Amino acid sequence: MRRGASIAPERQGGVAQMRHVAIIGSGPAGYYTAEALQKLYGDSVAIDMIDRLPVPYGLIRSGVAPDHQSIKAVYKRYEKVALSPNVRFVGNVCVGPDVTVADLVELYDAIVFATGAPNDRPLGLPGSDLPGVVGSAAFVGWYNGHPDFADLDPPLDVAAAAVIGNGNVALDVARILAKTRSEFAGSDIVGRALDALEASSIRTIHVLGRRGPHQIAMTPKELGELGHLEAAAPRVDLADFPPQADDALLEPGMRKSVSHLRDFAGLPRDKPKLIDFDFFAMPVAVEGEGRVERLIVERTKLTEDLRSVGTGERYAVECGLVVSCIGYQTPPIEGVPYEHGRGRFANQDGVIGGGLYAVGWARRGPTGTIGTNRPDGFEVADTIFAAYPPEGGSKTGGPGLDTLLHARGVEPVAFRDWQRIEAAETGRAREGSPREKFTSIAEMIAALGR
Ligand code: NAP
Repeated sequence: MRRGASIAPERQGGVAQMRHVAIIGSGPAGYYTAEALQKLYGDSVAIDMIDRLPVPYGLIRSGVAPDHQSIKAVYKRYEKVALSPNVRFVGNVCVGPDVTVADLVELYDAIVFATGAPNDRPLGLPGSDLPGVVGSAAFVGWYNGHPDFADLDPPLDVAAAAVIGNGNVALDVARILAKTRSEFAGSDIVGRALDALEASSIRTIHVLGRRGPHQIAMTPKELGELGHLEAAAPRVDLADFPPQADDALLEPGMRKSVSHLRDFAGLPRDKPKLIDFDFFAMPVAVEGEGRVERLIVERTKLTEDLRSVGTGERYAVECGLVVSCIGYQTPPIEGVPYEHGRGRFANQDGVIGGGLYAVGWARRGPTGTIGTNRPDGFEVADTIFAAYPPEGGSKTGGPGLDTLLHARGVEPVAFRDWQRIEAAETGRAREGSPREKFTSIAEMIAALGR
């Protein structure tokens, strides 16, 4: 069995003088930060990207919708960074159980948390622990083959689903529930989820927003897609909309989104599935005998400062599946100050303190698109560069980590190992699909012959 030493030859680092940076998490925020550090330091930095999974790219692999391959293509940019000589991927290593933050502080000049926000914000309603209520992290992780959620098995043998939230994740979930098998051609949705979705009996997808059409967090391109689905049509009630003249006050992107919503009202109702937008609809309870059967919703109105408040009017939405798409949280890590109210690491402009930094969703919470992480990572890289000039390092970095992992019997996965996993996933893809992902860590490691 190969141990920690297996990744050492990728870089002859570990020299004093140069700077050693550990980036925890290999998603977009992590790679943009690595890219920026490389640009600033040149050969004077060695970067280890530590990930608890044996596969890189975080949200690009397991968050971005599988039918949005053009967005996923950004991984090629990260691959370039990953293949450069002063960056290593150290996969299958979990900060906490395998290596502590205190260990990392000993080994690296700076430690950057790019761990994203992989946990669902809890719905916290009476009955929200009933089977059939799932968070979007779990649901999205399921169809994207994330090892944590591969066995989710959401109930699709029901007539209706409720999707809570009016953001892009709610749109992704509604669209995935609505698509036919042929509409997934060219996607990398995992085969098991594709089969389950094809057999689904869901015909109505309620999309519930607690505020109105002018308060949605959906972007135009994503919203527009709903108007062109093979077997599903969106529906809105124009009575929920403010006067059309008010649209002129919206910023252009939002105006376009609202214009798509208005257009939905004029679409023919000749498709078997319905995506029903219910605005001013605040879920207050989940009910059912042993599994979710209905969502109790309270009608809301807007306050002057555009918050939603209940009107007291309640009604039931019959549904056998509830997917809550109401945002995410960063899981705390021992030794890293945490801001509980906001579900992210406590930081000031990315600086946590004591050589610790945060980027991406771990820094600012779950907002923005993939591209938002680029300036974010570059800004934190500048801050690190100012605090740790190229000369003067005395840490051992990667070789020190290898020694420690080896002593603990932890066997990391290097980038070239990942490339073998990737080749195996490509090799077993169904026709037209770029890959068939392995959905367990054991399968990924087995693909390496370990
Ligand atoms: P989001 O954009 O913040 O939307 C969350 C939604 O949940 C909002 O409509 C919010 O309503 C609602 N909500 C929050 N708490 C609620 C509660 N207790 N009850 C009912 N509704 C509640 O978050 P997201 O959709 O998870 O997306 C996260 C980020 O990823 C966003 O920046 C998004 O644009 C991005 N993303 C982008 C793409 C893409 O570009 N294709 C795809 C997916 C995600 P209020 O507004 O009333 O708070």
